[in-house]
Amino acid sequence: MVSLQHVDKHFGDLHVLRDINLDIPAGQVVVLLGPSGSGKSTLCRTINRLEPIDSGEIYLDGTLLPDEGRDLAALRAEVGMVFQSFNLFAHKTILENVTLAPIKVRKKSKADAEAKAMELLRRVGVAEQRDKYPAQLSGGQQQRVAIARSLAMEPRVMLFDEPTSALDPEMVNEVLDVMVSLAEDGMTMVVVTHEMGFARKAARRVIFMADGAIVEDTDPDSFFSSPASDRARDFLSKIL
Ligand code: ATP
Ligand code: MG
Repeated sequence: MVSLQHVDKHFGDLHVLRDINLDIPAGQVVVLLGPSGSGKSTLCRTINRLEPIDSGEIYLDGTLLPDEGRDLAALRAEVGMVFQSFNLFAHKTILENVTLAPIKVRKKSKADAEAKAMELLRRVGVAEQRDKYPAQLSGGQQQRVAIARSLAMEPRVMLFDEPTSALDPEMVNEVLDVMVSLAEDGMTMVVVTHEMGFARKAARRVIFMADGAIVEDTDPDSFFSSPASDRARDFLSKIL
């Protein structure tokens, strides 16, 4: 589904991604862990080419992602991304937030886009909020709208970069529950999170990064019970 081969990237002198090789099959849920600055966000952003890479290749369903151009825009639409900050359009209603891109990019009719949007808003539990504006919703509700908005584009892969880090503790679970249900439905997902409960429950695979490189690539049970590297042991001792 997603394949990265020999991906390298620098920010000036800083080598932020070092020879990243990663194959994510369809339906797999991958949790990406690592210390601050290890390159997790950068890796997510390269997967939908929000960040250019210096060398290597990224494939989506066997199609090489180009560096730029119209093909890139089309392929990027196949990759949904949810960030720590919800990034909803402040001056659009909840329903408009979810229908905007399907109408503009996917050329759906307004009626079709709204029908699909309502289905998704029901799924994430915020259908009653359809006519409100983002500022009138709680953080947890806004993040669920952001997930619905991504899903409305019918992505083949969903990337989550610390989707619950900006939320009050009591709202974390309502967002994680939506993510667990997506995982159970077979969505291919890459998730950067500090929520180890989610990693244990929903992830098939843990990728641990340090200094821009993949240091461990294993299943959650092995990672948490017997990390193979000093870096991972050190990381776990600080967060668990
Ligand atoms: P965190 O857990 O703090 O979110 P991260 O693992 O997501 O960290 P990245 O945000 O990918 O780390 O950053 C990797 C390295 O690249 C860091 O040293 C960071 O300072 C640097 N970096 C990130 N974005 C840029 C940028 N636009 N320009 C220059 N350096 C950057
Ligand atoms: Mg980050």
